[in-house]
Amino acid sequence: MLWRGRRQSDNVEDDRSDSGGGLGGGLGGSPGQFRVPIGGRAGGGGSIILVILVVLAGWYFGFDPSQILGDGSGGQITDDSGSQDNGGAPANDEMKQFVATVLADTEDTWTGIFKSQGLTYEDPKLVLFSGQVRSACGFASAAAGPFYCPGDHKVYLDMTFFQQLDQQFGASGEFARAYVVAHEVGHHVQNLTGIMGKFNQMRQGMSEADANQLSVRIELQADCFAGVWAHFTQQKGILEQGDIESALNAAKQIGDDTLQKKMQGYVVPESFNHGTSQQRQTWLARGFKSGKLTDCNTMSGPI
Ligand SMILES: [Zn+2]
Repeated sequence: MLWRGRRQSDNVEDDRSDSGGGLGGGLGGSPGQFRVPIGGRAGGGGSIILVILVVLAGWYFGFDPSQILGDGSGGQITDDSGSQDNGGAPANDEMKQFVATVLADTEDTWTGIFKSQGLTYEDPKLVLFSGQVRSACGFASAAAGPFYCPGDHKVYLDMTFFQQLDQQFGASGEFARAYVVAHEVGHHVQNLTGIMGKFNQMRQGMSEADANQLSVRIELQADCFAGVWAHFTQQKGILEQGDIESALNAAKQIGDDTLQKKMQGYVVPESFNHGTSQQRQTWLARGFKSGKLTDCNTMSGPI
């Protein structure tokens, strides 16, 4: 992606030096801090199971459905004092610049799309954190992967996830990382358009299996929205050869079936909550091909 020299977003909040720190590559920390997507599957296992779950949880970048169930008021959160603390993490490293540029590009794209529908897009904030973070959705560890909190309209990202994506999950390339950011922004779009609110309502009282199926549809739509963004990025002529392939490969590597096979040797389809590799690739590619939101209707029909 030819991102250097392009506009960088002002909506990046660098909280990397504020957090507890010291958790390293996202697998540390105490079990109490981990948020496992769709809680309750830990099943009372011992520490080994917990570690496995934590590793698995690290795969599920995206919003954590259990967080959506939080009150979402955000009223108790007071950590955004706006003070700049530059101790610790490098203040303006290249990866931060990359993320800020990708975020800016999503702002431009979604502002344009919303405008064409007579709507106003509100930029989300993107919080860079290190190890652990407090959001309006509660306390989160880097091990849970990047996430979007609808309560405060913020994307939370510990950039060590990018290394994990590359080294552990076999999803390398700049555009794989851009896809991660664009997917989270896709959840923000769902929040602004009311899709996420509806999702929260619908999943109330559902069985876990049904809620998982609904979650898959929400996640695939965020993938499709990331594809829509990539479509317009290509139109600007800033995609390079191999970019889309690296995003599609990332979608494949983080598919529920691929992850489960890798981590536990077998798959449990009813526990899928992000979609299979094939589904994730299909919806990402679909959004990319047309650039149309109407092609991202994952909420009805076969997926
Ligand atoms: Zn997601």
